[in-house]
Amino acid sequence: MTTFSRVLLAAVLVGHVLAHAQRGDPKLTEVWQPVPRVVTPGTNAAPPSDAVVLFAGADLSGWQHQDGSRAKWTVSDAAFTVAKGTGDLYTVRAFGDCQLHVEWRTPAQVAGDGQDRGNSGVYLQSRYELQVLDSYNNPTYSNGQAASIYKQHIPLVNASRKPGEWQTYDVVFRGPRFKDDGSLARAAYITVLHNGVLVQDHAEIKGSTVFIGSPTYQRHYPKEPLMLQDHGSAVSYRNIWIRELGD
Ligand code: MG
Repeated sequence: MTTFSRVLLAAVLVGHVLAHAQRGDPKLTEVWQPVPRVVTPGTNAAPPSDAVVLFAGADLSGWQHQDGSRAKWTVSDAAFTVAKGTGDLYTVRAFGDCQLHVEWRTPAQVAGDGQDRGNSGVYLQSRYELQVLDSYNNPTYSNGQAASIYKQHIPLVNASRKPGEWQTYDVVFRGPRFKDDGSLARAAYITVLHNGVLVQDHAEIKGSTVFIGSPTYQRHYPKEPLMLQDHGSAVSYRNIWIRELGD
């Protein structure tokens, strides 16, 4: 053993003894309850075992238009596509705090530019828009590009794939809380990964998404439908699932 090795070994031993002396009984800091519920994770594209599947590839029975009519968007090749002019699509079920997975694709054939290229949107609780847009070499205002919280938060980076390629949003959303008098008790918060890249980090939502002016909150139910926007672009969606979160 070299002198250096002996010194190193001695340092490691002393450090070990000191660490134990500082910690005392390690059992004092062990927490055994509650035991986390078992969830079987999804493999590849499959959702985790406790997810509500909103579109698995075949039917739009979990979706409707605002007036409650049957979803008129087009289903083909295990995806569904905005049928221009038919209107936004809402989930039949309502959701509060959640983890959401959405896959989306803008048209491979590029048409238009700026906000007119592959525009749609994922609206949490029908009000708070996570922008869907073809932002691959497509300049527009930063707080309106893909993965922005529309007109509220610029994405941290532009993680866009090319038009025609499938992209993912993974979202953690905490809805707002309202007082009995209807005023805001606590704002909504959103965290977003775009194609696995962090783009919104616990961003505070300032109110309902608006095109003109400043956002404000209007009291709503703790659970509201998820909405996908018909902005006139043939954007496609697939493999959408949601996990409801407790407080
Ligand atoms: Mg939009």
